Amino acid sequence: MCAELIDGKGMALQLRGDVAHGVRELRGLSHETQPGLAVVLVGQNPASEVYVRSKARLTAEVGMTSFKYELEEDVAEKDLLSLIGQLNRNREVHGILVQLPLPEHINAHAVINAIDPEKDVDGFSVSNVGRLTVGQKALVPCTPLGCLQMLRRHHGSLSGLSAVVVGRSNIVGKPMATLLLRENCTVTIAHSQTQDLAAICRKADILVAAVGKPNFIQGDWIGHGATVIDVGINRVTEGQQGIGKTNLIGDVDFKSACRHAGAITPVPGGVGPMTIACLLANTLTACHRSLGLDDPVGLPV
Ligand code: NDP
Repeated sequence: MCAELIDGKGMALQLRGDVAHGVRELRGLSHETQPGLAVVLVGQNPASEVYVRSKARLTAEVGMTSFKYELEEDVAEKDLLSLIGQLNRNREVHGILVQLPLPEHINAHAVINAIDPEKDVDGFSVSNVGRLTVGQKALVPCTPLGCLQMLRRHHGSLSGLSAVVVGRSNIVGKPMATLLLRENCTVTIAHSQTQDLAAICRKADILVAAVGKPNFIQGDWIGHGATVIDVGINRVTEGQQGIGKTNLIGDVDFKSACRHAGAITPVPGGVGPMTIACLLANTLTACHRSLGLDDPVGLPV
């Protein structure tokens, strides 16, 4: 038996179509407003460069303005903060994203919290994290928001289900757990110090893996028929000494997981595309809110 594949790529295509429709509608509602997303990249991390290029292309594709800022690896923190200040004041910019990770000499918390919370489309600022946690209107981190969309689509109501999130990072694990709690799941967060992880995972109706270790979660850790969301994106190079083709591998051992899970997201083609689609959705939402309009209908929040 093989698990049903949750088609993140197809869902993301549909969501980007909804965002593009929302962008066109917005022009009718509010003169010539065009949502704008600014992406800031510091240094030359090849993986980050790929993400930033793809974000810029898809931003333009849905009819938004894409602003891209590439700063040198050794940029001073005060210069980065000054750019954030300019973007906060720029009325053509409705969403600001600083690509992580940042070089070590820069305090990432200070940079993220310098972003106007209304433009913080990554939802990483203390302000948005706090709002989400206490149940106020927030901008929600894109990766967990994308995961939640896939789960909602697959299950309908998640109420009462047992969810295990493996990983407790600020960008994936913690907000994922908060969102699942908001959906009335019974949530367990596991991490590197968790005892008997396999037994905990086996109890999950929903298992979210955000660990950053290729093929870490084994098939026999997955309860019969559980839904598995594999957030991991691990670049693994075939062959010796890092020479050869690079493959993207998830945190879940897909082959063995398929024999136990009821449904599973593939890597690539699962969470990754939904993350970018949710970023665009958040930018449209931020634009609506900046104009005092209701949130766009049908988009994830
Ligand atoms: P982090 O490295 O920040 O966090 C990893 C988490 O995994 C930590 O909480 C850590 O625990 C936990 N962990 C590590 N080892 C173990 C173990 N042996 N058992 C249980 N838990 C363990 O990673 P991120 O959250 O940023 O990312 C996780 C993965 O998701 C990565 O592969 C990343 O590339 C991918 N990702 C994918 C995105 C997408 O769009 N698809 C977006 C963002 C990330 P502890 O806290 O105790 O150290």
